[in-house]
Amino acid sequence: MGTYLSDIVIAQQTKLENIEVIGEKLGLNRDTLELYGNFKAKIDPSHLIDKKEKGKVILVTAITPTPAGEGKTTTVVGLGDAMNKIGKNTIVALREPSLGPVFGVKGGAAGGGYAQVVPMEDINLHFTGDFHAIGAANNLLAALLDNHIHQGNNLDIDVNRITWKRCVDMNDRQLRNIVDGLGAKANGVPREDGFEITVASEIMAVLCLSTDLADLKANLGRIIIGYTRLDEPVTAHDLQAEGAMAALLKDAMKPNLVQTLEHNPAIIHGGPFANIAHGCNSVVATKTAMNLADYVITEAGFGADLGAEKFLDIKCRKAGIEPAAVVIVATVRALKMHGGLAKSDLNDINLAALEKGLPNLLKHIENINDVFGLPSVVAINKFPTDDALELELVKVKCQELGVNVVLSDVWGSGSAGGEELAKEVVRLAETAEADFRYAYDATLSLEEKIEAVVQKIYGGSGVSYSKVAKRELAKLARLGFGNLPVCMAKTQYSFSDDPTLLGRPSGFDIEVSNVKVSAGAGFVVVYTGAVMTMPGLPKVPAANNIDVTAEGVITGLF
Ligand code: ADP
Ligand code: MG
Repeated sequence: MGTYLSDIVIAQQTKLENIEVIGEKLGLNRDTLELYGNFKAKIDPSHLIDKKEKGKVILVTAITPTPAGEGKTTTVVGLGDAMNKIGKNTIVALREPSLGPVFGVKGGAAGGGYAQVVPMEDINLHFTGDFHAIGAANNLLAALLDNHIHQGNNLDIDVNRITWKRCVDMNDRQLRNIVDGLGAKANGVPREDGFEITVASEIMAVLCLSTDLADLKANLGRIIIGYTRLDEPVTAHDLQAEGAMAALLKDAMKPNLVQTLEHNPAIIHGGPFANIAHGCNSVVATKTAMNLADYVITEAGFGADLGAEKFLDIKCRKAGIEPAAVVIVATVRALKMHGGLAKSDLNDINLAALEKGLPNLLKHIENINDVFGLPSVVAINKFPTDDALELELVKVKCQELGVNVVLSDVWGSGSAGGEELAKEVVRLAETAEADFRYAYDATLSLEEKIEAVVQKIYGGSGVSYSKVAKRELAKLARLGFGNLPVCMAKTQYSFSDDPTLLGRPSGFDIEVSNVKVSAGAGFVVVYTGAVMTMPGLPKVPAANNIDVTAEGVITGLF
């Protein structure tokens, strides 16, 4: 394997077009574009209301993730460039990166190699300030809540049953569990509290699922911040908070326009967690892109059992979006891990492990095609370490099994490495028969919905509930939340709730430990095992390698 330029070096070698030029390609002028410097702009979607959301939506998802990496974002960006190259008017619609992973283990989320969105430094760091605004709105609600208690607690909020947390966009385990309000009476009421990372805040999910400012305000008002001593919910509306919160979010609601390395338009907006939230970009961004282009390529977080399921069952259901086709990203390396190979041995050619890993991919394909009724293509994301024999074997085996498969080398070659994939996506979107349906009907009980996902999507046998989960499920049904979709918070590393069960496990039960309603976002979060909403940093954080020169050039981001 030769040496390769790092993502940031490739990005910095590219001469960017002024964002007004990118806007012009979409027919956007200065009335619709709000410039944030020369290379970023916000789009005011209220100028597009007479459009018909005609663009076809292509979802990019993946097999069950492994530490070997999959490359969904990279595939989205490269596919977008390839679609434009073959003459299809296409926008990529992605999530905004969080500072937590940027400074932690994973790094940024602006694609990789020759398939990136730029300016990658800005996108990965503060961008246009949306996440800061979300943090401010979240913390305003927290401040209003504790002030209400301090001022006499007319609503009778039980300080032991407050569910709203403060947030910051940083991996900071020190803030996971805290005691605040310490000191004399004037300093507030002491209580146990905690922080979440901003992307885990319900405000993020609300912003991403709201259709406009009026809808945003109504949804913010529905957020439950805790319960009274009689166990009745207390909402943001009860604290008269939604107006000021929406005011803070006015600009954050507008999608951001940037460009790919090949100067095609990219819309980047919102970035909810894919465990306790639904893990895809905003409805406003997707619909804006649908108004502006013939094709919209978008990504859902984690593997298809989590990201795609929630994209389809939560976001598409809520927004009335019907995707035209699905791309499932797989890599030789990840397939070998699903076939039992250790991470340290991934560079060795191992056709047996590769073949043994295929059932994981097959289950995801079955889910997309048979459960959701959508046409799909598998994109094998080529890594420089991949051996030609192995790439050939995946292709041949997939074809033997009737799987639609294409090799993608957008990381190494940009659009030129994605043309075959682009042509297949166009073919599917134009000619394949889609019969889109959800994995469950919204009218089923919460338990029935959970069981449908576990049995149909995960391939599990059944569901067991903790005592707490049973009690909470009954309470949510009583409070009228039984008709909401479920948002599964499960490990991304397995179809099951055991992260060590790779491949295609069967015969397992999923243990539901708790459930919690995100009444503003409009879903019920189902906890299976421990879910971290405030990550920590690793022993050697990525932050240690990030720097800026005296001239202001950022280095070490990836
Ligand atoms: P995902 O969206 O699935 O999390 P990304 O597209 O963000 O994955 O890719 C994760 C990391 O892997 C990035 O640093 C990216 O540069 C790298 N990567 C992706 N595809 C390839 C590839 N084909 N070869 C080498 N590195 C890749
Ligand atoms: Mg990604």
